Amino acid sequence: MRVAVMDTVFRPRFNALKVLAILATVLLWCGWAGGARAEVFLEQPLCHAVTATPAQPDTAPPFFSCEGQPVGYQHGSLWLRADLDQLAVNPDDLALLVHNSRFDRLEVAFTYEDGRIIRQAVGSGDFGTHWRTGAQVAFEAPVRDAPLKAVTMRFDRLASAHLLRMRLMSRGEASLQSTALSISVAAALTLLLMGAVFNTFLAATLRRQFPVWQAAWATSVLVWGMIWSQLNLFIVPGMAGAVSAQASTALSCLAITCAAFSAVTAIDPANLPRILRRITLAVAAGVGVLGIPLTLMRSGPINAMANTLGLMVLAVLAGVALCLGWAWRRGSPEARSFAGAWSLPMVTLGVVQFADTDAMLWGGGAQLLVLFAAAWQTLWLAAAASQTHARLRIEHDRARTAEARAHELARRDPLTGLHNRRGFTEAVAPMLKLAHAATSPIALLLLDVDLFKRINDNYGHDTGDGVLQTIAQRLSRWEGDMCQVARLGGEEFALMIAGMEGFALARFAESVRLGIAACDHGPAIEGSKVTVSIGVAKAPFQSDFRQLYRLADEALYTAKRQGRDRVVFHGQEDRETASLQTTQQASQTV
Ligand code: GH3
Ligand code: MG
Ligand code: MG
Repeated sequence: MRVAVMDTVFRPRFNALKVLAILATVLLWCGWAGGARAEVFLEQPLCHAVTATPAQPDTAPPFFSCEGQPVGYQHGSLWLRADLDQLAVNPDDLALLVHNSRFDRLEVAFTYEDGRIIRQAVGSGDFGTHWRTGAQVAFEAPVRDAPLKAVTMRFDRLASAHLLRMRLMSRGEASLQSTALSISVAAALTLLLMGAVFNTFLAATLRRQFPVWQAAWATSVLVWGMIWSQLNLFIVPGMAGAVSAQASTALSCLAITCAAFSAVTAIDPANLPRILRRITLAVAAGVGVLGIPLTLMRSGPINAMANTLGLMVLAVLAGVALCLGWAWRRGSPEARSFAGAWSLPMVTLGVVQFADTDAMLWGGGAQLLVLFAAAWQTLWLAAAASQTHARLRIEHDRARTAEARAHELARRDPLTGLHNRRGFTEAVAPMLKLAHAATSPIALLLLDVDLFKRINDNYGHDTGDGVLQTIAQRLSRWEGDMCQVARLGGEEFALMIAGMEGFALARFAESVRLGIAACDHGPAIEGSKVTVSIGVAKAPFQSDFRQLYRLADEALYTAKRQGRDRVVFHGQEDRETASLQTTQQASQTV
C-alpha cells in the first residue's frame, strides 16, 4: 500500500476492471493524461533484499533475491534493485520518481558500468530539493561517461512495499510531468477552495445540516489535497515524508465520512427508510474511525486494514447511491441535484478501488482524479445552490409584485380607477401631516352628483356608470403632488388640495364644479347636463381626515339644501359667495 494517505483508501487494488478505468477516466482526461509516455513503471516485485535493522548510510547492498515478495522489512531496510539492461530506458538520461509513502529514509544508489556508485537520499522530515508537487520524490542520475547500470533503492522502516509507486523516465520528461502535475493540482485546489468557501457561506446562511457537512468535506479534501500533493512543504518543509502520508490517510477518511453525511443529511428523512439512512451513516462513521489506527500505523497488517477500508468505502458509496436513488424515486428534489453532484466523485472513488490508475495524469493517478472529482462535486453543488437561490429570488420577487398589486387594488375603485376611501385616506395622510407641520393651507372638496338617482332611473344603471367614469376621468386631470382625488362611494367624490386658500381656493372649487358640468356624457343622456354640489372644508389646526370630512359633508349638505350645483364653504354657509358661485341651476338638468 502506499502508506500515504489516500494511499490506503484510493489505491488501486485489482487490475481486473482496467477497462472501466479507461472508460471513466481516459474519456475524461484523454488529451493530456495520455500522449506518448517515455516512462517505465518499476513493477513489483523487483529484485529485493531485506535487512532486519535499518542499515547504515552508504552500506553495501546485501544479497538480492529476484523471486517472491519481500517480507520483514517494516522495522529494518528494504532494498529494491532495477537492472537497467532489462528496462526500456535510456541509461544516459535518467530520473527516478518515487511516490511519497511511509518510510523513515530513502537512499537511491545509481550504479554505473565502471563500478562507481552515486548515492542520493531523503529522510522523513527533510526531502531537500527532491520533492515535487503531486507526492513525488525525484532523483536525477548524474551524467557520466560511463552508462548507468542499475538503480537501487533502500527504504528504511517502510510500512508497505505494496503501496510503492516508482517510475523511471528521462530528466526532461520528469520535469515536464512535474510542471503538468503542479498546474493540475493548483487548478483542482483552486476549484476546491472556491467550493469550500461557497459552501461555508451557504452553511452560515442556510443554517442547515448538510451544507455544514459539505463544507467539512470540501475543506478536508482541500487540506488533504494540499498535504498529499506536498504543497504544504512550501510552508512546513518538516512535514515531508511519513507525517504527510499519515495525515493524508486521516484526512481522506474524514473526507469520505463528511461526504456521506453531507449527501444523506441533505435528503428529507421522510423520503428515506430509516434503516438505510442509519446503516449508511454508521458505515460512513466507521470509515472515519478505522482511519484513526490506519493513520497511526507504521507497521503491522497495514495492507489488510487498507483492504478492509477499501471495502467499507465501497459500502458507503453503495449506501449513498441507494439513498439518493431511493429519495429520487420518491420525488426528492435534493436527491436529484445531489445525484448529479455526487455521481462523478462516487464513480471515481469506486473505479480507483479496482482499477490501476497509477499511470494516469503524470503520476498523480488516483489521488489527482479524486481531487478533480471532488472539485467537480463542490462546484456542481455551488451551481445547484445558486440556481435554487435564483429560483427562490424570482419567486420572492413575483410574490412581492403580486403583493404590491393586491395592495394597490385594495386601494382603488374598480369602476373608475380612482383611489377608494382607504386609498384616499392613506394618500392624504402625508399631505395633512406636511400641511400641519408647515402650517400651510389644505382643503377637502366633497363632491356629490346632483339627482344621480334620476340618471339611473331614466337611462339605466350602465349609463349611470358611464357618467361616473366620465366624471372620474375629468377629476383625475387635477391629480398630482398637491392634489389627491378619490371616489369615496356611490356618486360621491373627493379632492384634497394643498397650497390654496381664500380666493384661489374658491376659484379652484368653482372651476371643478364648472369642469364637471361641462363634461360630455355622450348621446346616451341626450345632452342633459350633469352637475355636482361641492362642500369645501379647510383644515383647521391639528385636524385629521375624519374631522375634515365631517365639515365638508356639512357644507355639501348645505349646498344640496340651497338648490345643488354650487360650491359651499364650511363656515360660510350663510354668507353670500355669489361672486364666485354661478347662477343656481340645480333644478335644471336631467
Ligand atoms: P342628491 O342630489 O340629493 O344627491 O340626489 P341623488 O339622487 O344623487 O342621491 P341619492 O342618494 O338619492 O341617490 C344616489 C344614487 O346613486 C342611488 C344609487 O343607486 C346610485 N348609485 C350608487 N352607486 C352607483 C354606481 O356605482 N353606479 C350607478 N349607476 N349608480 C350608483
Ligand atoms: Mg349621494
Ligand atoms: Mg347625489
